[in-house]
Amino acid sequence: MTESWGQFKSFEGAKFKALDAEFTKKSSQLLGGQDLTTCFQCTKCSAGCPVSDKVNIQIHEVMRMLLFGLKEVLETDMIWLCTTCYTCQERCPQGIDITDILFGLKNIAYQKGMAPSGYVGAAQSLFDTGRLYAPTEWEREDLDLDDVPELDVEETKKMLKKTKLLELQEDK
Ligand code: SF4
Ligand code: SF4
Repeated sequence: MTESWGQFKSFEGAKFKALDAEFTKKSSQLLGGQDLTTCFQCTKCSAGCPVSDKVNIQIHEVMRMLLFGLKEVLETDMIWLCTTCYTCQERCPQGIDITDILFGLKNIAYQKGMAPSGYVGAAQSLFDTGRLYAPTEWEREDLDLDDVPELDVEETKKMLKKTKLLELQEDK
């Protein structure tokens, strides 16, 4: 494992809680989760992962934690720092849909209020302004650009309401 990054804790030497069979079952029901038991820890996924030197736990370890029902997996930075490049999924000799499983884990973590504040803020900003990041006037002036164009946020809001993105956390 590498050093802890940002707000995420390090799992170096961590003692995990008892295995949770219910969590294992829930993981197996995620998209791609049905194949978790076939993982034989070859580490090919981690070997090709572009963020392997940035995360405090590797993707093959995430797969093992899921199989063992270790809910602490929801606190790992791997699920949020994953770039969704699908390299691990392409390389897995067992054909496990690893990246898709990570999407499911993000959803569970978000529902439990465990998403990093930056992600929640970005979702709120997208809903409120139609943008993930609001460019400032001086940045545009420096680049000789026109004023920030207005966006029709009502259409964006309608679309995001359909995804129920902002309601997810209220379900916890
Ligand atoms: S590549 Fe597939 S089989 Fe190998 S450790 Fe990763 S998930 Fe498991
Ligand atoms: S999809 Fe995510 S976990 Fe898989 S190799 Fe890419 S960054 Fe790593």
